[in-house]
Amino acid sequence: MPSLNDKTRVAHCDNQDELSDAELLRYDRQIAIKAVDIEGQEKLKQAKILVIGLGGLGCAASQYLAVAGVGHLTLIDFDVVSESNLQRQILHCDSNINELKVDSAKQTLAKLNPYIHINTIARQLDDEKMKSIIDEHDLVIDCTDNVSVREQVNQACFIHNVPLVSAAAIRMEGMITVFNYKENTPCYRCFSQLFGEQVLSCVESGILAPVVGIIGSMQALESIKLLLDIGKDLVGRLLFFDAMTMECREMKLLKQAHCSVCGG
Ligand SMILES: [Zn+2]
Repeated sequence: MPSLNDKTRVAHCDNQDELSDAELLRYDRQIAIKAVDIEGQEKLKQAKILVIGLGGLGCAASQYLAVAGVGHLTLIDFDVVSESNLQRQILHCDSNINELKVDSAKQTLAKLNPYIHINTIARQLDDEKMKSIIDEHDLVIDCTDNVSVREQVNQACFIHNVPLVSAAAIRMEGMITVFNYKENTPCYRCFSQLFGEQVLSCVESGILAPVVGIIGSMQALESIKLLLDIGKDLVGRLLFFDAMTMECREMKLLKQAHCSVCGG
């Protein structure tokens, strides 16, 4: 197993894609995992993840992606921080009220890990712009509670074949799944057409703070596994988490033959 004393590697760290001495030390506990190793940590450094929505899920997911050393994060959200966000959106604090969420989140993430690059987008994107931004990334995390944005993101991810880690949380429950758009796998539209247009939001239903933390952390975890191509992913599986009973249930998600996005 490579060690921090590996002089050969240190001598070559001028290359931006390789890890510096300081980064090797910083990520030592993660590199110690066989499935990650130095090679995996370098993959994370090179990876570009798009985080859509910097609310409860987005804050939790992006903080773990940042500290884990995902080298390039792009944050999209056009909303500003309000007092009622602070109960669960852990990258923002009182002094950030009325600031753009992406600015507040970027400040906190940069403090958590100064070795990563963070870009921000604080406006709603039309379909063409969304497609071109998604095409520049290796993976997308959907942390929005807006169904039309979810559908737009799914369409763009399908076209460019970029994996999507999708999740939702409400009250004491959360769910998460992954779409990778490979043959015979479902897309978000295959799933959403089963549930119709009924959408509940945290505003009307409430949400217990740690629930978004758990589900958002799972999104970060699934993203890292996908980037490193390790373990068993959640493609075709919808995982439900019930915080009231601490039980998880799994549902199979099937591709719908006549799906308007991925069918035919
Ligand atoms: Zn579909």
